[in-house]
Amino acid sequence: MDPRTRIKFNEFQEACKRTANTNLTHSQAAMNWALGIAGEAGEYCELIKKSEFHGKKLDKDHAKKELGDILYYVAMAATNLGIDLASVAQANVDKLTARYPEGFKRGGGIRQVNNDHEDDGC
Ligand SMILES: [Mg+2]
Repeated sequence: MDPRTRIKFNEFQEACKRTANTNLTHSQAAMNWALGIAGEAGEYCELIKKSEFHGKKLDKDHAKKELGDILYYVAMAATNLGIDLASVAQANVDKLTARYPEGFKRGGGIRQVNNDHEDDGC
């Protein structure tokens, strides 16, 4: 794909609004988008599980669609919070750059607060 034609985060976020249910309260929308993230993450995990444990060839096109579904719900969750998707992405890059200034190294992250997923790279 030509990088000049790739959709930008905020363009994607705007496109997501076209199909979002607008008849929800703020609280209902928060639940809808959060549960959507979890549900679509589950669909993606199912593909990986079947590939890794059931001997099924990973269908990358299907995986790509499920990742897009996750991104849709992330975009709408950010919208519900009044946050633009590009700033979500940038904040993650900034966080990980601070945590892993030399790139990922197991046990080498610099953290403000220790937690139980230290070595997952995010
Ligand atoms: Mg899906």
